Amino acid sequence: MQDQPRIIVIDDDPLIRLLVGKALQAVGLQTTETASAEEGLALFARCGADAVLLDVMMPGGMDGFAACALLRQLPEGQHIPVLMMTGLEDLESINHAFESGATDFITKPINIPLLGHRVRYMLRASHTTQCLLESEQRLHRMAYFDSLTDLPNRQFFREHLQRIIALAHRQKLKLAVLFLDLDGFKRINDTLGHHLGDQVLQETGERLRKSLRASDALIRTGATQDGDTLARLGGDEFTVLLSMIERDEDAASVAERIRISLAQAFNFDDHELYTTTSIGIAIFPDDGATAEELLKNADLAMYYAKREGGNKYRYFSTKMTDAALRRLALENNLRKAAGHGELELYYQPQLDLVTGTFCGVEALLRWDSVELGCIPPAEFIPLAEEAGLIAAIGEWVLRQACQQAKAWFTDDMPLARMAVNVSTVQLLHKGFYAMVTGILAETRLDPHVLELEITESALVCDEASVMGALSALKQIGVQLAIDDFGMGYSSLSRLKSFPIDRLKVDQSFVHNIEQDPENAAIATAIIAMAKSLGMKVTAEGVETDAQLAFLKDRKCDEAQGFLLAKPMPAIEIREFLLNQLISTE
Ligand code: C2E
Ligand code: MG
Ligand code: MG
Repeated sequence: MQDQPRIIVIDDDPLIRLLVGKALQAVGLQTTETASAEEGLALFARCGADAVLLDVMMPGGMDGFAACALLRQLPEGQHIPVLMMTGLEDLESINHAFESGATDFITKPINIPLLGHRVRYMLRASHTTQCLLESEQRLHRMAYFDSLTDLPNRQFFREHLQRIIALAHRQKLKLAVLFLDLDGFKRINDTLGHHLGDQVLQETGERLRKSLRASDALIRTGATQDGDTLARLGGDEFTVLLSMIERDEDAASVAERIRISLAQAFNFDDHELYTTTSIGIAIFPDDGATAEELLKNADLAMYYAKREGGNKYRYFSTKMTDAALRRLALENNLRKAAGHGELELYYQPQLDLVTGTFCGVEALLRWDSVELGCIPPAEFIPLAEEAGLIAAIGEWVLRQACQQAKAWFTDDMPLARMAVNVSTVQLLHKGFYAMVTGILAETRLDPHVLELEITESALVCDEASVMGALSALKQIGVQLAIDDFGMGYSSLSRLKSFPIDRLKVDQSFVHNIEQDPENAAIATAIIAMAKSLGMKVTAEGVETDAQLAFLKDRKCDEAQGFLLAKPMPAIEIREFLLNQLISTE
């Protein structure tokens, strides 16, 4: 009985209700009969049905046309078969019936014996249509929706964006595409498992829905209501389309709301998790004319937000593109540079101005990229610092330099000093001291030979660990120099509190030293100050005899510069230094 299709028969004529009911029951259908449209609709709304048979003319109440139209508006009533029964046979009535949503139409007097079969046939046809419809909807969902978060997917977003762009183009409107990426999501996934990772993504989707709903004033497309301007592209990447923004800044307020919402704790089972989000914003038409371009540029802007430490939003501007793409290429190549043998150390000799002999060398890193050519350190070192690659590269440099110095020693070319540049970012790494002592032990180089060149920024930063590491290195004999001195803002008292052996006068003060009284005064002051603090002084960037004479006159200890020698590869420097030894002997 339960499985039999249920039919509601609505007719004000009790005899017809009775006859129709019997006819349908005879072919195995269940029926419920009502005398008015109102009653029938209420019954349908309450209990549903597999089909409705509806009389058109029902004096005193709602007629069949109106009832059918209302039925079609009920969620369950959209697709069920509705058979209209009427004495009206004119074309207008028939049209009216179909316009009201009728599936079929029979005229009175009703051929009762045939009715059961007709309704059965209608149910079968409707069932088939329903199945087709459902599988079509399922396919649509699979192609366009992400099953984890139930948000639209990349394909949907792209197509939708294309449509909205066309609209915005015609109406001269602005749009914003937000590209979101959770910071450190991989860590959650790797350490706590995919199950929790999935929950974070689902909750992220929910919070995004809520954040957007709250911004109705901004987003006036009905689209946002059912979430189709929000998508999950895959992994921990989400996108948001804000249509009809008035000013570029409007996107920032939504981005900020999203950022704050996603920074709140996630509570699952026994876990309290935190994650932040980086958001890139691209504006139509300024930042791209197509969906592809806008998505790509929003992604790039997101990448910039991430590079600046994450948990923020960044706008893309076309001006950024070339620079950004170059940086991306540089970073990708730099990651592989050491492994691909693209890095090499050059060595620049340092001259002792008192004895006139070369007393040491400074190791200078060279990167000859197969793909990008030679890149100067001034360009790739800051990049390595930002991209978190400096620790690995710095370690490679130190190991290489120490191995080289040791090799020269064993090869009977003793060298008083191997100076190695160390970036402040590198110094801030907790393992810095252990790394240096490890390499000294591994290469068996006398620590006194090693001089680390740090910049003034290392003295300004407030990290106790930096001071600790430097003091400990000083203890075991490693020498410390301040590079590019005079450019930073280190106070004298701070300088005094660090165990520094040497100041290197920045090239910019040596340049023009003979003509520019200001430069001459600064260089002279630095030399005098270093002496009074018990430190040695090396002048960098010496290019002319006049500069050298000036420095000698002011009792500068050492000089380094193209006038004396350019940085050279290991083999050349060996020749160079051996020749010097012979000529001074
Ligand atoms: P720096 O440590 O002050 O190195 C001196 C720079 O001046 C070198 O540039 C050198 O080639 C250049 N130079 C030497 N003599 C002269 C001269 O007479 N005139 C002029 N105009 N320039 C001269 P380079 O090799 O391009 O390195 C630039 C900077 O990159 C270095 O400045 C240093 O701060 C950084 N760097 C180089 N190698 C490394 C490294 O292995 N690690 C780190 N952290 N930084 C490095
Ligand atoms: Mg240096
Ligand atoms: Mg320097």
